Amino acid sequence: MPTYGAHAFVWIGDWNSETGRTAIESAARAGVDLLEIPLLRPDRFDAPLTKQQLVDNGLRAVCSLVLPEHAHMPARPQEAVDFLKIAVDKVAELGSDFLSGVLFANLGTMSGLPPTQQERDTCARALREIVTYARERGITIGLEPVNRYETYMYNTVKDVLGLIDAIDMDDVYVHADTYHMNIEEAGFQQAIEAAGPRLGYIHLSESDRGVPGQGNVHWDDLFAGLAAINYRGPLVLESFAAINPDLAAATRMWRMPPYTSDELARKGLEFLRGKAAQYDLQ
Ligand code: MN
Repeated sequence: MPTYGAHAFVWIGDWNSETGRTAIESAARAGVDLLEIPLLRPDRFDAPLTKQQLVDNGLRAVCSLVLPEHAHMPARPQEAVDFLKIAVDKVAELGSDFLSGVLFANLGTMSGLPPTQQERDTCARALREIVTYARERGITIGLEPVNRYETYMYNTVKDVLGLIDAIDMDDVYVHADTYHMNIEEAGFQQAIEAAGPRLGYIHLSESDRGVPGQGNVHWDDLFAGLAAINYRGPLVLESFAAINPDLAAATRMWRMPPYTSDELARKGLEFLRGKAAQYDLQ
């Protein structure tokens, strides 16, 4: 049976010791195996407390982040590396083995131009240092392409496959996201098949960031692709039920969604479990 996960922002708008407990308890109640914890401010993250709360609730965790403005990797690679090393240390302290997300850019920082070769070389070099640092701590890295309105650096699965080639190391995977794919890819199945064994993680999110199955994502094409590559990674619900300034800055979510967190989790996971069964995902 596939591993099911959910992003903490299904239940909360930002992560601190109190809201973190809410997210962990809610995820356990929703019946997922895995909680994705946002490390937007890794220096303030209480890893030992969170680790204990996860154990108490029988959950595993992975971590994700986007770079802050002062650490936009193409322009400030040293700041980005410093920031990411703190994050890797926290992932290790948490006892997790995966750090993913937009590890190459700040969302919303635009140059007004396409990415230059120099910017891409800078990212490959900085990420090689991070993949090495993470590997020494037993942690695998994922890289998530996001749509053109959020970054100019890597928008498609193919872009990130090129970045992974440039990094030229094992222990680094594509982290796909159906919300971004719906904007940037010519098709779901072909993009998933292009990633093949390099696909390590996936965010399942509707075209409006709402409940999977209630929007315009071509779910059958997606699951046909996942079945074709024999995908064994986690299936992670990432939609949002709260508005907060960090999230709005990154995702441009301005309207309160018409569902509660628990409705989102229940209906979304029910739909995803049905599709995974239909396509016989293992
Ligand atoms: Mn995502």
